Amino acid sequence: MNYCQECQVSVNGEWLSCPLCHQPLEKVSDMPTPNPYPDIPLRFNKQQVLRILTSISIATISIALIIELLFLRSPRGLNIISFGIVSMWLVVLIIIRKRRNIAKSIVYLIISLSLLSIYWDYVEGWSAWSTTHAVPMICIFALIAMYIAVRLVKIEVGDYILYLLCAALIGLIPAIFLFFNWVTDPVPAWLSIGLSTIMLIVTFIFYRGEVLRELKKRMMV
Ligand SMILES: [Zn+2]
Repeated sequence: MNYCQECQVSVNGEWLSCPLCHQPLEKVSDMPTPNPYPDIPLRFNKQQVLRILTSISIATISIALIIELLFLRSPRGLNIISFGIVSMWLVVLIIIRKRRNIAKSIVYLIISLSLLSIYWDYVEGWSAWSTTHAVPMICIFALIAMYIAVRLVKIEVGDYILYLLCAALIGLIPAIFLFFNWVTDPVPAWLSIGLSTIMLIVTFIFYRGEVLRELKKRMMV
């Protein structure tokens, strides 16, 4: 048991500083006392998450640089890739920090980043970079981030499954850009559509039960 001189209270558990005033505690007895709070294990390894994110970022930047040096000879693509990487980090950081309703925040994030880039493009005189590059990149990297996060953080399937579906559906929106010919290069849009389709198929194959249960639950409410 330890004692805080400032607050004049005894503190159970293995605290080294006072939980109230943060002053160092004075040891009163060597008898170990049980911690009054249950230990809540962290269900994910932060270092591991950050390491995976960093490796993916470095790998993507290297691949983009190699492709540009070999085929394009201009540094334009790197800006677009950075946009995607920033979205991926934002999404994973949201998941790590906020444990509740994180999937919902991600869907909001995808929508707001996309609208922001479209507005920015519009203000700059519309060269279609947002519909060609930014929106598909945000969708692609947000889906990758969501997938990494749900595998590592292990949040409940029911909590995120509908939002994962939402994110996958948003990833199909570039199909509209293709249809109306709002793109100068069709590749990013097709990548986003492809990845979203794979995500939708995988979700329906492996989590059909959860999806139907969640949908039913929300219909009732
Ligand atoms: Zn104290």
